Amino acid sequence: MKKTILLIHTGGTISMHVNEESGAVVPKETNPLIVESKKLRQYADIVELDAFNLPSPHMTPIEMLKLKNLILEAISKQKIDGIVITHGTDTLEETAYFLDLTTNLEIPIVLTGAMRSSNELGADGVYNLVEAMRVAVSEDAKNKGVLVVMNDEIHAAANVTKTSTSNVGTFQSPQYGPLGLITKTMIHFHHAPLQKQYVEVSTIEKKVALFKVYAGMEADLLLSAIDSGYHGVVLEGLGQGNVPPAVVTGIQALLDHQIPVVLVSRCFNGIAQGVYGYEGGGKMLEDMGVIYAPGISGQKARLKLLIGLNQVHSPIEVAHFF
Ligand code: ASP
Repeated sequence: MKKTILLIHTGGTISMHVNEESGAVVPKETNPLIVESKKLRQYADIVELDAFNLPSPHMTPIEMLKLKNLILEAISKQKIDGIVITHGTDTLEETAYFLDLTTNLEIPIVLTGAMRSSNELGADGVYNLVEAMRVAVSEDAKNKGVLVVMNDEIHAAANVTKTSTSNVGTFQSPQYGPLGLITKTMIHFHHAPLQKQYVEVSTIEKKVALFKVYAGMEADLLLSAIDSGYHGVVLEGLGQGNVPPAVVTGIQALLDHQIPVVLVSRCFNGIAQGVYGYEGGGKMLEDMGVIYAPGISGQKARLKLLIGLNQVHSPIEVAHFF
């Protein structure tokens, strides 16, 4: 029996075209993907929803929350066997991770996008969409958390990141690799995520800032987070998880204001941990109460802390949560 897939559009290059006069890539009034439904119906019956038509830099956690609610509402009304979401690639990994943490479904949720708009030479949108559809109907894709499908690969939401500004093979999972490959005839999974965390959220009210640490950084930016009313701060630290000495006073001030500080590394391989005991070293930061977020990038640690601080059953124990 044919499966039923919920296909949700949110915008992005996959729904855009090149304006021939200006040469700019812009959104279209009618989503060019809607006309592709016929190609997709050979794989499944489709329930199609136009949630937003946004370039993905316009996505915020509020839209991500709406998307989560839309999914839960749709599956409560009818039998859905899988979900495919089209999305701009710039923040696709963030929406994927948000949904990964805030949904707990057996059915596959697959995000896809395109690096080339619908009327560009070598446009990859329809190709990626068909592949996402094939993954969404695959029995093997169940219970694997939220997936990202692009360029013949299947990635886990927690690990995937956009690595190239323009290359169609932009989505990669540094350190971990993809979960599977897609060929003409097969959906071939070779890994499965070991852990699945689920957090119930119904509102996003608290704010979390993300700062990249750099040589010569001072405490002023961290202090401004206190004045601007942030409830949490994530730092992309140096190497194994260190910061310049001047940053330490900023961290201490945040902690004194009960603002949790979460640390990841700005290196995209390896994990941050408390190793060095010098001023600003990771061991010193850990002893101060800084929390490490192993295995995720700065932007994902920021979303995780945001979700944790906004969860229905708060307050959370941040160290335990990470
Ligand atoms: N800037 C675009 C967006 O994220 C890029 C894309 O969709 O690939 O909306």
